[in-house]
Parts: sequence; C-alpha cells; structure tokens
Amino acid sequence: MVNYCPICGKPVYFGEKKRSLGRDYHPLCLKCQMCNRQLTAGQHAEYDEKPYCSNCYLRMFGPRGTAFFL
Ligand SMILES: [Zn+2]
Ligand SMILES: [Zn+2]
Repeated sequence: MVNYCPICGKPVYFGEKKRSLGRDYHPLCLKCQMCNRQLTAGQHAEYDEKPYCSNCYLRMFGPRGTAFFL
C-alpha cells in the first residue's frame, strides 16, 4: 500500500518515508510550513493536516490549539 505525502501529494515509498503523527512524509517534506525548519518525526505540531514547528504553532494558534506534542 502506498501512502501519499500530504505536503506534495506524491506517493511515498517504503524506503523514503518519514512517518509522523499517523502520516507518511518525504524526508524533505517534513518541515515547518511556516519557517521551513526541518522537523523531527513525532516531535512537531500539526494544524489542518500540515506540520509546523512548535514555535510557529504557538505563535499562530496559541496554547489552546489542538497540537499533538509527543
Ligand atoms: Zn512530499
Ligand atoms: Zn516553524
């Protein structure tokens, strides 16, 4: 089964996938959608199905958002 990267929409194959928060990303796609900082799988926030670093997340949505901090 091939999953599709939520960032670029292309298929993510087994050897290249980076799984985080239940989605598969390309290693280069798993970055903050705000500041482009490279993210560590499982250690970032998510909003509207897009990954953000916790700094940008807090700045944009505040601490009452629904981020998943693991
Ligand atoms: Zn991608
Ligand atoms: Zn950021």
